[in-house]
Amino acid sequence: APTAVAEHAASPTYTPARVDGVAAVLPVVGADTLVPLVDGRRVPYANLDVAASAPALQAVADHVDRVLPLYASVHRGAGYLSQVSTALYEQARRTIGAFVGAREDDLVLVTRNTTDSLNLLAGCVPADPATGAPGRVLVLDIEHHANLLPWQRDTDATVLAGGPSVAATLDAVREELRDGGPYALVAITGASNVTGEALSVAAVVEIAHAAGARVVLDGAQLVPHRPFSLAASGVDYVAFSGHKTYAPYGAGALVGRRDWLDAGTPYLAGGGAVRRVRVAETTWHEGPARHEAGSPNVIGAVALAAAAEALRAVDPAELAVHEAALRDRLVAGLAEIDRVQVVRCWADAVDPVGVVTFTVAGYDPGLVAAFLSAEHGIGVRDGRFCAHPLLGRLGFDAGAVRASVGVGTPGADVERLVAAVRSLVADGP
Ligand code: PLP
Repeated sequence: APTAVAEHAASPTYTPARVDGVAAVLPVVGADTLVPLVDGRRVPYANLDVAASAPALQAVADHVDRVLPLYASVHRGAGYLSQVSTALYEQARRTIGAFVGAREDDLVLVTRNTTDSLNLLAGCVPADPATGAPGRVLVLDIEHHANLLPWQRDTDATVLAGGPSVAATLDAVREELRDGGPYALVAITGASNVTGEALSVAAVVEIAHAAGARVVLDGAQLVPHRPFSLAASGVDYVAFSGHKTYAPYGAGALVGRRDWLDAGTPYLAGGGAVRRVRVAETTWHEGPARHEAGSPNVIGAVALAAAAEALRAVDPAELAVHEAALRDRLVAGLAEIDRVQVVRCWADAVDPVGVVTFTVAGYDPGLVAAFLSAEHGIGVRDGRFCAHPLLGRLGFDAGAVRASVGVGTPGADVERLVAAVRSLVADGP
């Protein structure tokens, strides 16, 4: 909307010094990487694909360096380094729980990523006690496939189309829970990986709990960028990924209420998950071990915990202002360019995270992304972002281009993107 654009353009928060100040407090590795352009020059890489995988914090890399020599068998060895590794792993679990405000009785499961966490939970949604039918889950069509397909495959899922506004969508959720229930669970994103927008988490929790349903939050795009607390929000489960939280690939978490997790079918069958095995009968553990068979990803968990600690050591409001300033500048800069359209779910969404998706009329999104990379050294993502239903409903079946920012993003990278898109349109057909 034009008024929103005018407000964005006038944002008092955007000053390059302030933006780059945050990047200096939380430096990321590889910030000075040079990449080749099509003409042979080498330029600093502008990583505007943070929503896909965020660069690791320097603090994470340093911590991994410190603990790597202490690597030994976890939970099983009696040797000194095994004890150290076990302690590191279990401490990482506590830190990860604290990072998302876990309640005292919540379980913290170390998984591979958000996808893994949501698949795990989908296998634990209890069946309807009266009929034995799979548990019912309500989900919106705005979700990343990771927060859609597990429910469709493993539970009795209803997919509701998002409405034209946040308010209308909340009304639709309320109505469905009242008239179409009972539901066991509402699965909702904390921030869309396409638009950065979300429904009010507080409102969803209130509506769902009033109808007797639990809430799982896909925190992949929220948790790295905003303070989040299970205890304070009342959300029952949260899932997120280390590689989007400034840690390396391979570790994520599912944190939340233990009863479903303790009763659910173990996610993986194997060593560590069992109390006793006889040829005819197996007794499974409760607690995290139940779902974490096999040797765990100690370094991944420790790295994720290190990222959590580093993020919490910085004023979260300052981080949010930094990312909002970058986002505002992106939206305002792109909105000034002819032929550019920014994708939005809802005009009334508040406090979106730093994800801006756009199209350039007349240009294939893949071509735009290739141009930005080859001619300007800018990394973005193009396509349908594992959110085909949303892109289809909003009329972007041919895909779009996504730019996303985080703590390590300098203001100059955003300026480079806006200038590059402007030049593409100016020189274009
Ligand atoms: N949910 C959202 C909102 C995402 O953005 C992503 C990744 O892009 C995922 C889930 C899946 O994350 P992962 O690939 O780490 O499992």
